[in-house]
Amino acid sequence: MTVAILALQGAFAEHGQMLDKLGADHFEIRQKKDLEKEFDALILPGGESTVMGKLLHDLVLYESIRDKILAGMPVFGTCAGLILLAKDIEEEATHLATMDIRVKRNAYGRQLGSFYTEDEFRGIGEIPMTFIRAPYIAEVFGEAEVLARVDGKIVAARQNNQLVTAFHPELSDDLKVHQYFLNMIS
Ligand code: GLN
Repeated sequence: MTVAILALQGAFAEHGQMLDKLGADHFEIRQKKDLEKEFDALILPGGESTVMGKLLHDLVLYESIRDKILAGMPVFGTCAGLILLAKDIEEEATHLATMDIRVKRNAYGRQLGSFYTEDEFRGIGEIPMTFIRAPYIAEVFGEAEVLARVDGKIVAARQNNQLVTAFHPELSDDLKVHQYFLNMIS
C-alpha cells in the first residue's frame, strides 16, 4: 500500500514521519508528473488552504486529484487539508469541494488560535489534539458523519473514503488517527 502526500506547502513532512512509524510506503506529490506514480491513498496536510488551493490549479493537479477522490480513493485532510475538501466554506470560495461539510476557517479567533487538548475520537478513544489557527466544521450534511467534537464544535468527520481533522495528529506521538486512516485503505 502506498500513500501519496501533497507536498506543495505546509506540514507534509510530519505525515511522512507518522507513516514511517506505521511502516506504510509513501511519497510526495509536488508536480503533475508525480501523479503518474501508483498510489492507494492521499494525505492533504495542514498549511494555508488558500495557497494550496491556488497551487493545485497553477500546477494542474486539481482535476486529477479531485477525480481520484470522487472515484473513491481514501483521502485524509488535516486542518488546511480539511478546508480543501469542504463543499462549503463560510463566506469563501471552495477548493476540491468533495465532502459534505460546512467549514469555518480560523474559527477560534486570534487568542485561541492555537491550543492543545485531549478528547474522544469515535472508534479510537481519547487522543491528543493540537490545533493551530484551526477551522472547525460548523455542520455536516449529506453523507458526512461526526467523529469528534471539542466543546461542542465538530473537529473530525468522515464521509466514506474521506477523513478530516481540524487538529494535527501528525504533530503528536500518537499514531491512532493515521492507523485509522490506513485501515480505511485496505
Ligand atoms: N488557517 C489555515 C487555513 O485557513 C489552516 C491552519 C492549519 O492548517 N494549521 O488554511
